[in-house]
Amino acid sequence: MTEFTSTSRAPLPEIPDDLSIPQFMLDYKHPCMPCRENVTWLTEDHSGRSIGFQEIKSRTHGLANAMSIKWNIRENDVVCIFSPNHTDYPICVWATHTLGAIITPANPGYTADELVHQLRTTKAALIFVHSDALGTVLTAAKRARVPEDRIVLLHNPQKPIVPHGVENVRDLVTFGLDRDTKYMEKRFKKGESKRHLAFLSFSSGTTGKPKAVSIPHHSVIANIIQIAAHYNVASKTSGPCPFSPGDVATAVLPFFHIYGLVVNMHFMLFAGLNLVVVPKFSFTDFLGSIVRHRITHLLLVPPQIVLMCKHPAMKGVDLSHIKWTVCGAAPLSGELVKQVIKVLPNASIGQGYGLTETCTSIAMYPPEQRIGTIGSAGTLIPGVRARVVKADGSLGKAGEVGELVVTGPSMSLGYPDNAQATKETFIDGWVRTGDEVMINENSEVFVLDRVKEIFKVRGYQVAPAELEGHLLMHPYVADACVVSILDEYSGELPLAYVVLDKSVEEHAKDHKSAARLRNEIAKHVSDTKVQYKWLAGGVEFIDAIPKNPSGKILRRVLRDKARAARGNV
Ligand code: AMP
Repeated sequence: MTEFTSTSRAPLPEIPDDLSIPQFMLDYKHPCMPCRENVTWLTEDHSGRSIGFQEIKSRTHGLANAMSIKWNIRENDVVCIFSPNHTDYPICVWATHTLGAIITPANPGYTADELVHQLRTTKAALIFVHSDALGTVLTAAKRARVPEDRIVLLHNPQKPIVPHGVENVRDLVTFGLDRDTKYMEKRFKKGESKRHLAFLSFSSGTTGKPKAVSIPHHSVIANIIQIAAHYNVASKTSGPCPFSPGDVATAVLPFFHIYGLVVNMHFMLFAGLNLVVVPKFSFTDFLGSIVRHRITHLLLVPPQIVLMCKHPAMKGVDLSHIKWTVCGAAPLSGELVKQVIKVLPNASIGQGYGLTETCTSIAMYPPEQRIGTIGSAGTLIPGVRARVVKADGSLGKAGEVGELVVTGPSMSLGYPDNAQATKETFIDGWVRTGDEVMINENSEVFVLDRVKEIFKVRGYQVAPAELEGHLLMHPYVADACVVSILDEYSGELPLAYVVLDKSVEEHAKDHKSAARLRNEIAKHVSDTKVQYKWLAGGVEFIDAIPKNPSGKILRRVLRDKARAARGNV
């Protein structure tokens, strides 16, 4: 067997290809959709205020109408959301989609430089922003030429007074609901939702700097239906289903990342769960929220599992109400799984695996398993076809190691305006994951390493090429190579090998001056990049960066050297 498919018993139901995401979520009754009209959809973590289906639907309409009347937002315009998780996040997304426009979700921790890159690349026409991030947006919008009157605030109960002249979602919804409908809801012809973009999310792919990824409506809808089929949401006769009406999921995974956006936000709402929306992760607050809202479903990344196992605040806390936990975005060690099952006595626990380029889930642990197979990132979900390409280019059988290449109904379409990168990653409908894996006879995927350049810090992608390009702009740096070392909490941390410019080479010989140079180089990164990209693994000087005859950095050589020096091989 050289092609792997899902071993789920449930067949993949039909995936509509003529619906937008809001039509699918709010208007359409899919055969595998549980009844959700009468349940709470979203709950604000701090206030406990809950929001149901009708309110979401009407706010989505009101906001879409206001966006159309005020700015004539329409098909293929791009709207950026620069905010932590917020109960209005899905409303901003679906109002934008209702107009046929596209959302580009941005990390609210980004610096102005990073946001400018995203605004310019996507040609954003409007920005939704949380008030905590308003300063960054005002600076970035000016540089990216987004007019100030196209910045819209999400409501912040801590700062309820809106700065003069700045629009806000709350008033816009009222404005839109008070007026006659001006917009034409975007409707697709058959097959059109496979091409019409819903999101421009950012990923570095296998190599190079962060790039926009084209994600059509159909990819998101398909992945929701695939996960639903995997977990028997459609037909409870095909196996157990871990989701029931009245279940409450935490939404702490950031909605700006594909895992938070598709699995935590869209899939969980589809499955009928009440989402407790947590804007910022602070472990003790999060623990309080889990207990206060009697959370039943947790979607996490590995550092959060580390804290659940080790944080002193866990002592004596009763988490017996948690029924289901999934961890994704980065590898989770078997050791941690063994520890976390002790603190979550009634929960099933396992991993999920996916990429922005595959519009999320490829594998998830199956509902029959109380504890996902240790070390496995899950079993392939229905609709996914997978191949393991060995180093010699031949296809691996079960148990053999190679790069994972996948296809299925949820694949993203490519990197817009970047034909070269698209050609390298998206090949005839298949996506090269850049992950080295082994798949066994049961279609369980084991992620062993990466063949791609990017690495992950707390589940977020770090692109060495981005940091190297930035380091080279510093006058002390003649050449640079960024690799990752292993870290118990963050998974990996960035470390820079730097060849010093001749002008400062002599200083590096003196201990104190060398420390000052290191600090200055690290500060050059921390001044302009979001925190997870900071050189927390250190800055090391080296005489030359090893390269192959064509000038390509031999990154693996330096990565192994850095890890060996720290004993973390
Ligand atoms: P992103 O596009 O940011 O979601 O990053 C996708 C990458 O995250 C994958 O190619 C993997 O390298 C990594 N990843 C996601 N889930 C897992 C997992 N369960 N185990 C190991 N790596 C993972």
